[in-house]
Amino acid sequence: RSVTSAESGALERAAEAALRPKQLADFVGQEVVREQLSLVLDAAQGRGRPPEHVLLSGPPGLGKTTLAMIIATELSVPLRITSGPAVQHAGDLAAILSALEEGEVLFIDEIHRLARPAEEMLYIAMEDFRVDVVVGKGVGATSIPLELPPFTVVGATTRAGLLPAPLRDRFGFTGHLDYYRSEELHRVVTRSAQQLEADIVDEAAAEIASRSRGTPRIANRLLRRVRDYAQVRGSGRLDLEAARSALEVYEVDAQGLDRLDRAVLRALCTRFAGGPVGLSTLAVSVGEETETVETVVEPYLVREGFLTRTPRGRIASPMAWSHLGLQAPEAAAG
Ligand code: ADP
Repeated sequence: RSVTSAESGALERAAEAALRPKQLADFVGQEVVREQLSLVLDAAQGRGRPPEHVLLSGPPGLGKTTLAMIIATELSVPLRITSGPAVQHAGDLAAILSALEEGEVLFIDEIHRLARPAEEMLYIAMEDFRVDVVVGKGVGATSIPLELPPFTVVGATTRAGLLPAPLRDRFGFTGHLDYYRSEELHRVVTRSAQQLEADIVDEAAAEIASRSRGTPRIANRLLRRVRDYAQVRGSGRLDLEAARSALEVYEVDAQGLDRLDRAVLRALCTRFAGGPVGLSTLAVSVGEETETVETVVEPYLVREGFLTRTPRGRIASPMAWSHLGLQAPEAAAG
């Protein structure tokens, strides 16, 4: 797996946690969401009530978990964390919900992956602050309604479109996180380097920023790889030379595309003649999960103009061909 798409182990999670901004004021970029969210939080605090439920959507690594933590911190309440795939049965969710105390924040990552019964239980709980606990089995089973204190759900999803309307409608505020601009990532890298006590020159920070696929998680990850490189093969100082060499070692190209990005584009161009080809066929041909290709790889390729989505399938743009050093086929006449 490539450096920028690799899923994290415990070590990486710890490294990430150390670099998380703790307050809204330290959260770089995303001005629109930041302002909207700070209004929601300030108003709720002014009324002395928990804020309405918040949904955060956007590609992985853009700061959804970080914002959930910041929301709890700003409200000075504990944060409970779970995720769609972790809740296997409605009973698991009932246990989580009934343990919540007044005003607490419940963060549900990958909320689009909740099983249907849990989803239904959740939107009733969000609306009425009530959960129906089923006691007993079979014909003797009875459902006992349990009142919950008011709390706030912060849901995160890479695919807001997949949330069923009844659940989506329970969120008073939805914030869409978009890819970061290079200058914003530059600030993320500089801030992280300070926290890591790494001696980085400005050009190196800019280089890392411009090759991080618009994603703070990747910027921080590349920063750590550049730091390794500088320590092992350089002077310890993170200069432009160390940045470029490290990015080469980890196969991040000048546009910030990593090995998986290029594999997808290459398959599209060479195996499917530039498309159109269906998403799942494309995913199988590079040996990846459809969801990974759809939520991690594609959005950035689309945004940068390497790939377009059409009703008939994915199509490589002329830029994709030239980026790979391939000759695009002549467009058929007529
Ligand atoms: P998501 O939940 O959207 O996948 P995370 O909140 O886990 O993303 O963010 C991934 C990493 O990127 C975190 O370690 C965090 O420190 C960093 N990060 C994300 N957004 C920002 C930001 N706006 N400013 C600074 N660092 C950020």
